[in-house]
Amino acid sequence: MSIQIIDGKAIADEIKKEIAIEVASMIDKDEKAPHLAAIIVGEDAASQTYVASKEKACKSVGITSSVYKLPASTSEKELLDVVHFLNQDLDVDGYIVQLPLPDHIDEQKILLAINPAKDVDGFHPENAGRMMLGLPAYLPATPFGIMELLKRSKIETAAKHVVVIGRSNIVGTPISVMLSRKAQNANATVTLCHSRTKNLKDITLQADILIAAIGKVGFVTADMVKPGATVIDVGIHRVEDVGKEKGYYLTGDVDYEEVAKKASAITPVPGGIGPMTIVSLLQNTLLASKRVIYS
Ligand code: NAD
Repeated sequence: MSIQIIDGKAIADEIKKEIAIEVASMIDKDEKAPHLAAIIVGEDAASQTYVASKEKACKSVGITSSVYKLPASTSEKELLDVVHFLNQDLDVDGYIVQLPLPDHIDEQKILLAINPAKDVDGFHPENAGRMMLGLPAYLPATPFGIMELLKRSKIETAAKHVVVIGRSNIVGTPISVMLSRKAQNANATVTLCHSRTKNLKDITLQADILIAAIGKVGFVTADMVKPGATVIDVGIHRVEDVGKEKGYYLTGDVDYEEVAKKASAITPVPGGIGPMTIVSLLQNTLLASKRVIYS
């Protein structure tokens, strides 16, 4: 069976070009460039890497980026002060608070304090509620990226059975809602599976589109996949390997080699959903600067 390897990097580059053109035309009209800010608390290496790659992506399309780096000892009150400052700052169109936060800070309290109109991560309950109701909303970056990837790869979703494994608030739950909505590039029948699901394999074998967001290396094996299915791998893991130049390699939640023999389309790791996630954040920042969601 011929397989379509869905090139998330190429699609993300295509979207970046579109954003760069849009930003350039704003600047030509003497409008200010969109501005994305990020707050990062502490020294978590993965978070530092994510924020650095978001900054780089902003730069590549002409979006202004600024980073507030706060020490791990920052109190909840001090962090709230920065959040309140960014809520008021007219120059900042949207901002993110990089998660996870140190244990002594209540994550929910911080996310609730973000002005929903600047919540380009789409994690505020107001944006989650709007998404749920099909109202204009900032969509969380990863599911937004999956939707865009399916659309641009011309993978039909209407009337298809989508099985999502994983019910996190940032991936599994929102992608289930988005794909089941009565809307273009959605209209799917969705089954949401999780750690308490019984007979998981019986369900995944029915999937026309299988979305894996579990957080376990190679969890989805070929015997769980219907021949001809589309497989979207959200997982991302660094596996140590002294044989590799960097001392590790990246892999996903899907046993790529074996599943690729059975699927009709598949996203690789790296180069699948990862690049789409970052580009979705840029799309949300552009929407924020144009006041599209909240006028
Ligand atoms: P999470 O860790 O918050 O939740 C995992 C989910 O998997 C849970 O809902 C749980 O019920 C389910 N699960 C666990 N074991 C299971 C089992 N045996 N059977 C069925 N379901 C099971 O998930 P998350 O934050 O959505 O992250 C999932 C993966 O995606 C991680 O590897 C993460 O690093 C990755 N991720 C990647 C991107 C990206 O941009 N590529 C973005 C977000 C998350």
